[in-house]
Amino acid sequence: MDISAQPIILYVEDNLDNRTLVRRILEAEGFKVIEASSGPEAFQQLEKITPDLILMDINLPEIDGYTLTTTLKSKLLPHIPIVALTANVMKGDREKTLQAGCDGYIQKPIDVDALPNQVRSFISSKTKD
Ligand code: MN
Repeated sequence: MDISAQPIILYVEDNLDNRTLVRRILEAEGFKVIEASSGPEAFQQLEKITPDLILMDINLPEIDGYTLTTTLKSKLLPHIPIVALTANVMKGDREKTLQAGCDGYIQKPIDVDALPNQVRSFISSKTKD
């Protein structure tokens, strides 16, 4: 396997159990997973790496996922797909994530079997356009 072709995922999430679960699922499928537990940590990671996709929790301390997404999309990284990964499933939440600039939405609880293909499809649909 060509290690340089390993897709890099930045996962912004304040819950350690979720970070551990997603890392385990995606690393088993050949992804490289970088973690950030807050907006400021995400900015620090983005100075060092350029991910193929960002998975974004919405309920975060300091800066929420909506604001963080809007900031990343507006100035820094408009070309990197950002997918919300959130338990906010009230009516209108999906629209709110898309308005904030997210390219998609994955609902928590995380579907262990579906997640790798969900992530792959978001990466490949973005590289097509
Ligand atoms: Mn959270």
